[in-house]
Amino acid sequence: MQSHESRLLYKKKRIGLMGGTFDPIHQGHLVTAESARSEFSLDKVIFVPSGQPPHKKKLPISNKEHRYLMTVLATAVNPYFEVSRVEIDRPGESYAIDTVRYFRSMMDEASELFFITGADAILEIVNWKDVKGLFDRCSFIAATRPGFDLSILRDELLNKISINYLEKIIPLEVPAMAISSSNIRHRIENNRTIKYLLPDEVENFIYKNMLYKKTT
Ligand code: ATP
Ligand code: MG
Repeated sequence: MQSHESRLLYKKKRIGLMGGTFDPIHQGHLVTAESARSEFSLDKVIFVPSGQPPHKKKLPISNKEHRYLMTVLATAVNPYFEVSRVEIDRPGESYAIDTVRYFRSMMDEASELFFITGADAILEIVNWKDVKGLFDRCSFIAATRPGFDLSILRDELLNKISINYLEKIIPLEVPAMAISSSNIRHRIENNRTIKYLLPDEVENFIYKNMLYKKTT
């Protein structure tokens, strides 16, 4: 049996987790992850494509292996980026708390975990499973677009969570916020260009596998 010590992959490390459906991954995700890495001196950012996200249950989402491969293609050139299959391979719905627990179990006490999300997702956080468990195990980096009034976020969250938790939400201003996966899917359906909204490799993968085209 492995000793606890040898399972500790991360010692005195600052690790970022970037969760998402990545259907498809785009420059907004990549710019956010890279800004977070640089601004908060993270040793690495691990992208975690979701299995079945509970909040997107009713929406059709692409095959998880396609989403995983697009995430690998998009992140391959950045030496600080990694992709984890933990949610893809876990049966059932994907909850952030399970993923955070999983990575925490590989980190020593001196290591820090940062969960990177868009500010839109942060507002939803109070509805996530085991919010307290999450805040006990990680901080949140909340990406906002330039000019976004953070006090709105603060006021809205203060109504729902304790002030101590609020301190663990760190804002990060990033450019490229207007890009979204749903907009990219919509553009493809309508035969509009998606060039430069996501990496060329991902764009080519989408065309090769005929993703997001309505089959009539
Ligand atoms: P959809 O349009 O289908 O909701 P999305 O573009 O929001 O997709 P997700 O995979 O749902 O992509 O997002 C994963 C994470 O990335 C979430 O925390 C989300 O808030 C964040 N995010 C999405 N788009 C951007 C962006 N342009 N800039 C910064 N963060 C983003
Ligand atoms: Mg979204």
